Amino acid sequence: MTIFDTLESEVQSYARSFPVEFARAEGSYLITRDETAYIDFLAGAGSLNYGHNHPVLQEALVDYIKSNGITHGLDMHTSAKKDFLHHFNEFILKPRSMEYMVQFTGPTGANAVEAALKLARKTTGRTNVASFTNGFHGVTLGALAVTGNTHHRGASGVTLGGTTRVPFDGYLGEDYDTTEYLDKLLSDGSSGIDHPAAVIVETIQGEGGLNAARIEWLQNLEAVCRKYDLLLIVDDIQAGCGRSGTFFSFEDAGIKPDIITLSKSLSGYGLPFAVTLIRPDLDQWEPGEHNGTFRGNNHAFVTAAAALKEFWKDDEFLVGVNENAKILHHRLLEMTLKYGNGSVTGRGRGMMQGIAVENGEVAGRICKTCFENGLIIETSGADDEVVKCLAPLNIPSELLIKGLDILEDAVAREIPAPNIKAAE
Ligand SMILES: *Cc1c(COP(=O)(O)O)cnc(C)c1O
Repeated sequence: MTIFDTLESEVQSYARSFPVEFARAEGSYLITRDETAYIDFLAGAGSLNYGHNHPVLQEALVDYIKSNGITHGLDMHTSAKKDFLHHFNEFILKPRSMEYMVQFTGPTGANAVEAALKLARKTTGRTNVASFTNGFHGVTLGALAVTGNTHHRGASGVTLGGTTRVPFDGYLGEDYDTTEYLDKLLSDGSSGIDHPAAVIVETIQGEGGLNAARIEWLQNLEAVCRKYDLLLIVDDIQAGCGRSGTFFSFEDAGIKPDIITLSKSLSGYGLPFAVTLIRPDLDQWEPGEHNGTFRGNNHAFVTAAAALKEFWKDDEFLVGVNENAKILHHRLLEMTLKYGNGSVTGRGRGMMQGIAVENGEVAGRICKTCFENGLIIETSGADDEVVKCLAPLNIPSELLIKGLDILEDAVAREIPAPNIKAAE
């Protein structure tokens, strides 16, 4: 029995899949106390897009700390926050002609989502929010209400309301555009749906099984929002910060969300940090109306600013990311064909892809075998049936391939033999 068994709550989850003691981390490797190195295809659930302890970010942080830079600043103006805002504007907003006010929320994704939902309800004077099947937005009550997962919802202990669930893209089959259903509901005065304040959507559902919305679907969703005067909230907490192959996951769709949430990889270093981006005329907050003690994580501002300058000042980084995404796509596609027979299918987009297998049990066994062979990888989806590759975006290609080799070995071992035979 370790102290984790005797003292740490039963609520632990990832720790159960990887029952070793990690001590160090570097780039795309997590290293245990006894110096076993694992390739990290989980990357802090998408919080480590630039890998662990990136030397440029590390140096910026160490220098800042050594110079007695402010650690905790509430929401006061600090030099670190100023630098972050400058860099975010220069390298992200301006080149994309995006105009948003930046709200520093409490440092978790869920808190950024709470702020987005509150503001949408406040500015429209409406209560209802349309949300999607298999969506995941965090586990605080407001965010949980718009989340689909029964396991998480069940822990709330209160009625979760204020939302109308709509089928996500592909939920009713590939041929059906579910934005038509939303349109129909909203056009029908007798549909029983209260006019929503907003729609909240992930363009690629992270926890919900790597369901990637089609570009046209996102465009149609935006059109429905405009037609019925609903605010469009894109929760880009997991798919954002380059994970999809562009900084924001909706760039290829050319849509203009009214509110955007970012967190996970925003600090670039795994430090807690979240923002809600607000269309300027919607920034109708009273001072402190949505607050939080830890809105001023200046260490996160420092690493975030360093990351923006290091990776987003030109296209070089994204070129590499998209090369990796191609390798990933190619290899996963190969696996679906080889072990397929319909029981393995590809999912996702960019560096947020995976394979769906028969059920959660099979996916769990695949991940377990991967772990035994030196790869950290997790599942997602309604039944945890999707094996999800979330490698750091800048993982060296050879290492990405090595990780995928481990994954393929595990898939070959765990997928029932008749399928493999039939595929051969
Ligand atoms: C992780 C996640 C959240 C919640 O973030 P926390 O920091 O865990 O509260 C919200 N939305 C999406 C899309 C996420 O992936």
